[in-house]
Amino acid sequence: MYHSSIFNPGVVAPVAALTSPSQRPEIFRFQLGALEVTAISDGAVEVPFEKLLTGISPEQTTSLLRQAGKTVRVPISINTFLIRTEQHLILVDTGSGDLFGPNAGGLVEDSLRTAGYAATQVDTILLTHVHADHSGGLVKHGQRTFPNAKVYVEAAEINYWFDLQEEEKAPAHRKHSFPQGRSSLQPYLDAAQVQTFEGETILFPGIRSIPAPGHTPGHTLYAIESEGQKLLLWGDLVHSEEIQLAHPEVAIKFDSDEPAAVRQRLKVLASAADENTLIGGAHIAFPGLGHLSRQGSGYAWEAVASAEKSSCQTEKPQ
Ligand SMILES: [Zn+2]
Repeated sequence: MYHSSIFNPGVVAPVAALTSPSQRPEIFRFQLGALEVTAISDGAVEVPFEKLLTGISPEQTTSLLRQAGKTVRVPISINTFLIRTEQHLILVDTGSGDLFGPNAGGLVEDSLRTAGYAATQVDTILLTHVHADHSGGLVKHGQRTFPNAKVYVEAAEINYWFDLQEEEKAPAHRKHSFPQGRSSLQPYLDAAQVQTFEGETILFPGIRSIPAPGHTPGHTLYAIESEGQKLLLWGDLVHSEEIQLAHPEVAIKFDSDEPAAVRQRLKVLASAADENTLIGGAHIAFPGLGHLSRQGSGYAWEAVASAEKSSCQTEKPQ
């Protein structure tokens, strides 16, 4: 499916019903100042939130999901974002590749093609972090999916996943991420195509990294700005929009440091709501774009656009 829409990111356009995540290539393209930004779907993956969320009981999780009209085993979107500048074709995160098997995720290359691009055209990849659903798409059958891309990743992040002592210390449910992360990055390290950065860094004109350690040690947000229009790509700041926006204190067992992840969420949600920031979330229902508003002690999501409600073009771009 090809969806295209031009909207003013400053204008909030609430959408009542978000699209349900699906396993089909999807894109959503819009203009951010001089930049062309395209939400690129990797598909979706089922997440047993009642087993994984912490700081909330499984019963409460189930009841909040039901109230939101979701089944308990809600599939969550995996979204990546493509930014076309004058000089670069930049992909923020790569989806899960083969790591979730044939029925979940793994659609980034197909969605890219739907957007009119081949993987070989991507010259830059910015990783929010190294978990499978963000870096798994870097490789296919052990080979680089993006042979012409330099991969940017926070130094603390890559150091962590290559640290065998950290792997040893990690609880059983997080151990598998270490070999997965290493196998996704190794072909790019071998080809000298990995570039690390530390802390807040201007990586390209209008593209800045913002450290948000917690979910992982080098979890990074990317602030994109062009001609006064702004977009914050917040990676895994929120996994369950139905629960963690109203209850930002709820963490998830994937967090390397749950209290730090909660602190980052509280900080970023507050400033994003106060500044009416346009957000691109990796796991908010595709295309993952919207604004936050304060609601009680938490926040409500206002989708700027959804694939269902946007002006759709059914034919693929030539
Ligand atoms: Zn994720």
